[in-house]
Amino acid sequence: TKYVYSFGSGKADGRADMKELLGGKGANLAEMSSIGIPVPPGFTITTEVCHDYYEAGRKLPESVKPEVEAALKKVEEQVGKKFGDSSDPLLVSVRSGAALSMPGMMNTILNLGLTDASVEGLAKKTDNPRFAYDGYRRLIDMFGSTAMGVEHELFEHELSKLKDEKKVKLDTDLSAADLKELVKRYKAVYEKATGEPFPQDPKDQLWKAIMAVFNSWMGNKAVEYRRIERITGLKGTAVNVQSMVFGNTGTNSGTGVAFTRDPNTGENTFYGDYLINAQGEDVVAGIRTPEPITRLHEEMPKVYEQLMDIRQKLEKHYKEMQDIEFTVEDGTLFMLQTRTGKRTGTSAVRIAVELVKEGFIDEKAAISRVNPESLNHLLLPQLDPKSKNKPVAQGIAASPGAASGKIVLTAEAAVAHAEKHPDEPIMLVRKETSPEDVAGMHLAKGILTSTGGKASHAAVVARGWGKPCVVGCEAMKIDEKAGTITIAGKTLKVGDYLTINGSTGDVMIGQVETIDPSVSGDFATLMGWADKARKLKVRTNADTPADAAKAREFGAEGIGLCRTEHMFFGDERIVAMRKMILADDVEGRKAALAQLEPFQKKDFVGIFEAMDGLPVTIRLLDPPLHEFLPHDEKGQETVAKELGIPVQKVKDRVEQLHEFNPMLGFRGCRLPIVYPEIGDMQVRAIISAAIDVKKAGKSVLPEIMIPLIGTVAELKILKERAIKLADELIAASGVKVEYLVGTMIEIPRAALVADKVAEEAQFFSFGTNDLTQMTFGFSRDDIKSFMGTYLKEKILPVDPFQSIDVEGVGQLIEMGVKKGREGRKAKHGEHLKVGICGEHGGDPDSVAFCHKVGMDYVSCSPFRVPIARLAAAQASL
Ligand code: ADP
Ligand code: MG
Ligand code: MG
Repeated sequence: TKYVYSFGSGKADGRADMKELLGGKGANLAEMSSIGIPVPPGFTITTEVCHDYYEAGRKLPESVKPEVEAALKKVEEQVGKKFGDSSDPLLVSVRSGAALSMPGMMNTILNLGLTDASVEGLAKKTDNPRFAYDGYRRLIDMFGSTAMGVEHELFEHELSKLKDEKKVKLDTDLSAADLKELVKRYKAVYEKATGEPFPQDPKDQLWKAIMAVFNSWMGNKAVEYRRIERITGLKGTAVNVQSMVFGNTGTNSGTGVAFTRDPNTGENTFYGDYLINAQGEDVVAGIRTPEPITRLHEEMPKVYEQLMDIRQKLEKHYKEMQDIEFTVEDGTLFMLQTRTGKRTGTSAVRIAVELVKEGFIDEKAAISRVNPESLNHLLLPQLDPKSKNKPVAQGIAASPGAASGKIVLTAEAAVAHAEKHPDEPIMLVRKETSPEDVAGMHLAKGILTSTGGKASHAAVVARGWGKPCVVGCEAMKIDEKAGTITIAGKTLKVGDYLTINGSTGDVMIGQVETIDPSVSGDFATLMGWADKARKLKVRTNADTPADAAKAREFGAEGIGLCRTEHMFFGDERIVAMRKMILADDVEGRKAALAQLEPFQKKDFVGIFEAMDGLPVTIRLLDPPLHEFLPHDEKGQETVAKELGIPVQKVKDRVEQLHEFNPMLGFRGCRLPIVYPEIGDMQVRAIISAAIDVKKAGKSVLPEIMIPLIGTVAELKILKERAIKLADELIAASGVKVEYLVGTMIEIPRAALVADKVAEEAQFFSFGTNDLTQMTFGFSRDDIKSFMGTYLKEKILPVDPFQSIDVEGVGQLIEMGVKKGREGRKAKHGEHLKVGICGEHGGDPDSVAFCHKVGMDYVSCSPFRVPIARLAAAQASL
């Protein structure tokens, strides 16, 4: 095997596509060199050596040594200097680099090859002793701290001490003699810490540095990083040994980093920073303030021109935006690194679209270039960047996006405010939120709580809606009685403006303009290409006309899940609902339901109108009834008063409805089986709303979805009852309304008997939240206590509530789709429509899985619709 790959002087043994073997840095240094871009000569020791090193119990393969010697000799010939020469030494850098860039790997060591003897030679040769001794003291520091484990602080301490002694402020104020003294002290630090003198044989330095790079591969930080990022299958790190070029020889030298396009906006302009008279690290380290790259045009016009040529050449060659590092030594430009540039979602979209327009790539490549998750950046309301309003407090960034609104302190106040002033934005500020607050939460532009973490009720609900939310802002004190909050020493009243940034956790006093997202321009172009490529349809989960309209704007092709439980909250509704729950008999229940029906019907009319022509899947009531009753004494007293019944009766009913496992209790289809009048009311509301909308000239496609079935019999009873009622209503109406009745597959048993279930269902929608919960036997509300450990111990590769567990739950889905389609075909000779609703529908990996098992559509929250569209397109490439 070849262990060492050379590059330099317009040639290279390696290529850009050899990242596995040469690491990203090494592969691209080779590529740049072979396409004629000036790169200081050097060589790469392969990742295979790293692998073999560990296989052999930390021993290098025999043949590495002679190969390195030979490669080093080649470098010496190209540069015309000798490694360790005492009059004109070749110096090198030793740089780590795996196939993926990885924090925790060893930092680069510069100026390797300097010794007591060669530093003198360098000083004479360059006629710059200051430069030579500065380089030497940096080497001792870098080599000591990164290769030999000496604390960097010990060196820093000597530096400050000397500066104090010399009464100077800046490193640059130290003279050559001072630096020579510093070298002496650094060497003493080194010897004390390692027990041996600083190596005076340059080859000794080189091998120690090479070994240090290999050892860092198994260092704690690198191992931990690979574990967290789930990086497996890499052979190891490569080592790059490269002749040094110096950006710090004077004012005709410098160093910089740049992007070939703006990584924030994607604009096709050169973007970066440089420093005159500096070594690479200085630009990023923030020691001095760098200059914008455009200024180089004035300071070094020739170099700038050359850099612009290289910029073009690199983009043309890689067909992708590049992130580059360069150094200028006495007016000569050298490239030290190139790689694909990291960018924001906004920038990724613009660059992908423009690369197509510029003829570099085709539409399919553009689709694959953008990480679906990164579209989030384009889908959130942003704070006006021109605002001068500064954050006054910080909470936990719980749900991204920015929002400004008038403070309200209760959900009821939010509802009342919205009724009175529907156009005013509301900021719901609470200690924490609970399920009773959802109506008010939904009306608010943003939610801010003083307690709770990323998994608190407020955080979870807000994320589901794509609503900006900051939680756990402990610096804020709420006085609900007085109607005030105190933050950063200021007291604000209900009705005052407050602004949050859910992407950063920032809280600002006052109103800050926000910019609403829309799918337009390059974003729309890319989505258009995605739509052409994808096979999966994308629907949305929406319960209100506003959400439905938003989702439509984002390209939703229907509603895949309209939950009806929120329709039972709100002032008059919840009273009627509670009446229903507390009723003694069917008649009492029917009377209460009759009060609810017009509300539900109105809600459905709004949604059908918004979705004109697109299918709407409506799930019948799903949660257990106790969620609609208050559990505290005070709340129960209020209900008793509202309904004019004794408190004891309320208490008894709450007691009676108490369940040990509500998620596995009296909910879903079990409710209308026991209380058919509940299902009847909902079916009537749906169908009569459809009839009205149809009569008004719009087209409606309602799909009634029965949740939580485990047996065919459950579905059969409810389906037949629904069809009978619906058909009667339609017949009496005189218009023709088409509708479907289908079911959710969310209990493992339903997936197991999917062929039989499909005989009774016109569509399936996989409710993967419950399906995951029941397949694992995990309560999704209680995973906090152990999921962290499970992920850490690699018991699970990902949180199965975030991304479908393909291995287990995936089998049930795959089988459910296959059996369901077969069962439907055999009995009715028709295609069974299959989709997914629930959190997973917006997760790109899960979308890819849904594509693979042949679903017809995925459904996700409105703000994830574009993400799902792109993920579906990528899955079909
Ligand atoms: P990282 O992986 O952290 O980017 P690099 O290996 O790219 O580390 O090294 C960091 C910096 O060190 C580079 O940006 C460059 O400025 C400087 N550097 C590395 N090798 C050389 C060299 N041969 N000549 C001059 N500067 C170098
Ligand atoms: Mg670098
Ligand atoms: Mg469910």
